[in-house]
Amino acid sequence: MSLLEVHALQVAYGGVVAVRDVSLDVAPGQVTAVLGANGAGKTTTLLGISGLVRARAGEVLFDGQPLLGMSPTKIARLGIAHVPAGRGIFPGLSVQDNLRMGLYGAKGLGAEPGDVVEEVLEQFPILRERRAQPAGTMSGGQQQQLAIGRALVQRPRLLMLDEMSMGLSPRVVADLFVLVARLATEGMAIVMVEQFVGQALKIADQAVVIEQGRVVASGAPSELSAEDIGAAYLGGHGNAAAPLPGAPRDARQPVVMSLAGVDVRRLERKAAQLGVSPDELAQSLLEKALDR
Ligand code: ATP
Repeated sequence: MSLLEVHALQVAYGGVVAVRDVSLDVAPGQVTAVLGANGAGKTTTLLGISGLVRARAGEVLFDGQPLLGMSPTKIARLGIAHVPAGRGIFPGLSVQDNLRMGLYGAKGLGAEPGDVVEEVLEQFPILRERRAQPAGTMSGGQQQQLAIGRALVQRPRLLMLDEMSMGLSPRVVADLFVLVARLATEGMAIVMVEQFVGQALKIADQAVVIEQGRVVASGAPSELSAEDIGAAYLGGHGNAAAPLPGAPRDARQPVVMSLAGVDVRRLERKAAQLGVSPDELAQSLLEKALDR
C-alpha cells in the first residue's frame, strides 16, 4: 500500500516548466532515490510535494489524501518533513533551539516539545553534546545531522532529503546513509534526491531517474540499465524530451525552505522589515510558540 502517490506532477516557475511529468509511488519503510543531472527537476519535485511551490497539474496523494493546493504547514502536519538542500539551519541559534524550530508550526504533536527534542537528541549523541552551542559552529556533517534531526522532531511518516551529502566527506556521507537506512527499517518512507548515485542505489528500494522534468526510468536499482544510470549522472537518456528553456541558474529565486511548513523566505522578509536578523526573529517566534 502506497503512502505517497504522485501522478503526472507538473510544476512551473512562471514560464519555465521545471517538472513536466513525474509519477512515483512510495510505501512505508521504503527508500526512493530520485536521481538525475543538474537541473533535471528533482528539487522542484520535492518542493511540489511539500507544497512549497504550487504544482500546475497532476495529483499528489498522501495516505490517500490529496495534497495539491494545501498549505506547506498543513502538509507538514500530515507527516511530511522536508530537509532542503543547503540544510537551512539557523547558525546563530543553539542546536537545541534549531531542533525546537522543527516544532514551530507543527503544534498538536501529541507530546511535550521537550520530549520530542530529547528523543531526537538520543539518536544523535554529538548534537546532545553540543546542544547549547550555536549551530553555526558545528562541522558540515554535524549541521546535516541537525537538519535531519529537526525534521525528525516532526515525527514524520515521510522524510524527504534533498542533497543530504552535498559538500560532505565520504566518511560522513556513509554515516548519513546508515542513518537513513535505519529510519527506513523503522517504517519511515524516505524520498532522497542524491548526486552520490552509487551510494544511494545501495540503500534504495527503488530509483526514479528524472531528465528534463520527466521520469525516464524507474524501478529497483537492479533493474536499471547502464544507460539509466548514465542519465542519473549526466542526463542524455534516449527518451529525453527537447531541452528545457531553463532560467539561468543565477536568475533563480533563493530556494524556499520549510521548517515544519514555515516558509523561511517569508521569515527572512519579515525579519528585514522588522530590522532584525532571521535568527533573532526565529528565536522570538520560538519563545512565543513554546511559551518560554
Ligand atoms: P540541481 O541538482 O541542479 O538543483 P534539480 O534536478 O534539483 O537540479 P531543479 O532545481 O528542480 O533541478 O530545477 C529544474 C529546472 O527549473 C531548471 O531548469 C532550473 O533552472 C529551473 N528552476 C529551478 N528553480 C527555479 C526558480 N526558482 N525560478 C526559475 N526557474 C527555476
